[in-house]
Amino acid sequence: MNSDQLEQCHEALEKLKQELSEEISSLEQSARPVVLDQQAVGRVSRGDALQQQNMALANLQQCHQRMHEVLHAEQKIDEADYGYCESCDALISPPRLLARPDSRLCLNCQSATEQKN
Ligand SMILES: [Zn+2]
Repeated sequence: MNSDQLEQCHEALEKLKQELSEEISSLEQSARPVVLDQQAVGRVSRGDALQQQNMALANLQQCHQRMHEVLHAEQKIDEADYGYCESCDALISPPRLLARPDSRLCLNCQSATEQKN
């Protein structure tokens, strides 16, 4: 990977991080404990509110997970270890990294992992 591509990946990671932190703060609002006060909940029933809260919590967990991946990728950039598959050490193809800059695995290892699951 050349320095332009690395720069692009770094920018993509920064953007992802920004988007994720915005999403996390909005999800944290929705995931707050359901208010018992009917007026605050409006016409939404308590059941609906709980369901929404559960969905928000599940999304929140996914966002935190992704954020973890993004931070991990940034750390690898700092350590000049970015762009290599964590399983087989092969170079991950730049188009793959540009599409998903927080990829840890090359395409081969990724599909091998997915088949195992
Ligand atoms: Zn690999």
